[in-house]
Amino acid sequence: MHPKASGAGEESEGPSPNAPHAAEALLADLLSNTADLVSFYDRDFRLTHYAARLKGMYGGAVVQGAAIWEIYPGFLDSSCRDEFLRVFQGGSPASIDLPRASGEAPRSVFVFGTANGVGIIESREHAGRSAAEEQEHVVLLHQATHDVLTGLQNRRRFGERLQQALAAVGGSKPKAALLQIDLDDFKTVNDTLGHGAGDALLQLAAGRIRDALQDGESAYRYAGDEFAVIQLGKEQPVEAERLAGSLVNAFKDPFVIDGIPVFVGSSIGIAFGPDHGTDGEQLMKAADIALYAAKTDGRGCARTFNRSMLLLLEQRENLRRSLRTALERGELYLDYQPLVRPPSSVVGFEALLRWRHPEVGIIPPSVFIPIAEADGLMDEIGRWVLEQACRQALTWPPSLTVAVNLSPAQFLSGSLTDTVAQIVDEVGIRAERIELEITETVLLEKTIDNIDTLNTLNVLGIRISLDDFGTYYSSLSYLKNFPFDTLKIDQYFIADLETDLKSQTIVRSIINLAHGLGISVTAEGVETSAQARWLINESCDCLQGNFLGRPLGAEATSDFIRRSPPKVVRAMEGSNRAL
Ligand code: C2E
Ligand code: MG
Ligand code: MG
Repeated sequence: MHPKASGAGEESEGPSPNAPHAAEALLADLLSNTADLVSFYDRDFRLTHYAARLKGMYGGAVVQGAAIWEIYPGFLDSSCRDEFLRVFQGGSPASIDLPRASGEAPRSVFVFGTANGVGIIESREHAGRSAAEEQEHVVLLHQATHDVLTGLQNRRRFGERLQQALAAVGGSKPKAALLQIDLDDFKTVNDTLGHGAGDALLQLAAGRIRDALQDGESAYRYAGDEFAVIQLGKEQPVEAERLAGSLVNAFKDPFVIDGIPVFVGSSIGIAFGPDHGTDGEQLMKAADIALYAAKTDGRGCARTFNRSMLLLLEQRENLRRSLRTALERGELYLDYQPLVRPPSSVVGFEALLRWRHPEVGIIPPSVFIPIAEADGLMDEIGRWVLEQACRQALTWPPSLTVAVNLSPAQFLSGSLTDTVAQIVDEVGIRAERIELEITETVLLEKTIDNIDTLNTLNVLGIRISLDDFGTYYSSLSYLKNFPFDTLKIDQYFIADLETDLKSQTIVRSIINLAHGLGISVTAEGVETSAQARWLINESCDCLQGNFLGRPLGAEATSDFIRRSPPKVVRAMEGSNRAL
């Protein structure tokens, strides 16, 4: 029982008929027993007292201090706002018809002025239903407006509430805030652990969102792994940013599903009405653009919509259009970065894709590969990269290998092994000279097929590297189950090797672990001689990074091979000294 409905605290002091707490006690009795939905609000439109049944009817929105429009959003509608305000400002009591949301029966409420504000009686007999019918009606209404899986309000209710919220902020203040929330990596969990785990994750995620909410904030499951929160009557933008911050934090801890800890962050886009949109669709679009910005800014963060985001989106659209023709126009090319085996030998090169855009200039792969993947272009581009890299490697001394990065899209196409075998055959290169680099994200999808694919490539004689190790799941079961030849330690751990003891411990452990499994180790992003020395001392098999050689174009690579790179020799000379 809620405190004001029962009034238990005041009651127990022993009522005397005329004392104020006796009146409170009477009111409490009335509120806990009446079949009608009675509620009282103060001059700030905040809920002060309410009938027990109101909570049964309207659920979480009913808390002391809640704004009247969180319980009766209909009052925001212009059709009954004026009449409501007339009573509120001291006018005679009135029965007001509430605007009907879809699926809801017609409802009217009786509004009357009180000493402190206003009272509302919503009569349940009014609809002429028996208690059983009413119960059934409540259940049906709940089903129609709530998501079965998470219990949050559903997309339909979201649309209605958003419109109502925007109607309430007709002027410039107060603002309504829309927070669009998207789970990072949800698809991965669904694909790898199954839909049951995906559902469990959505339920847990909904719980964390619900727990972060305060008065005046309501959450919705909008679609799949997309959630939304509407905030009304708050100081903005501070309150939306505060809530976004606590939501991002709420997703920092792992979710435990079937005993497995799963890390799934949240990205959030914020937009304010009426500034960023005067109707629901506009506001959702603005929040969506802000969400996209949060995703591209590294995810696990929140961004508020601003107009310059539109410019970025337009640029991305332009890029997307011109990427479709980039391959046939010869705008894609490869750089090659040396892979160096201590003491001083270049053993091969990694092919790194670039796009020379006619107007923008050179665009790095981190910008355009995600677009190519989303647009289904990566399979074709990946094939071109492999063929181009193999042809280039044929011009090098036959001992040198070429490493080529594979995107998950190439794995999912199902024809990867055929494509690789075909290219090896056409180009006439020895398969042993090719090393394919994959990241753990590739392995997360469709695991059984992936083992087959990797095994077939292995049988062909092609070597497989696990790229960016340490940044994703770093699952040891991958090392056990997949036939890797090389493990590439991500540059994140190499960058602070000179100062960070933890990075040193991690890198040392990875090297030992890999060696124990018969896997060779390459360190990525080696930028200083001290890093190189430390790694060599720890028996790292191969080094890659700007200190040993930056990525170079095809011609410059051939020159590099002809010259003996002096820096490499210098780095290795000091290899016996510790950091
Ligand atoms: P990656 O495979 O981990 O490649 C290494 C990245 O680190 C390259 O960035 C390289 O230029 C950069 N790098 C090398 N040495 C240093 C260093 O000393 N310091 C720093 N800060 N960075 C260094 P790049 O070329 O921008 O490539 C980024 C990522 O794009 C690659 O990461 C790879 O995942 C992807 N990528 C590149 N080419 C292809 C491709 O042909 N196909 C696919 N699917 N992905 C590619
Ligand atoms: Mg790579
Ligand atoms: Mg890497």
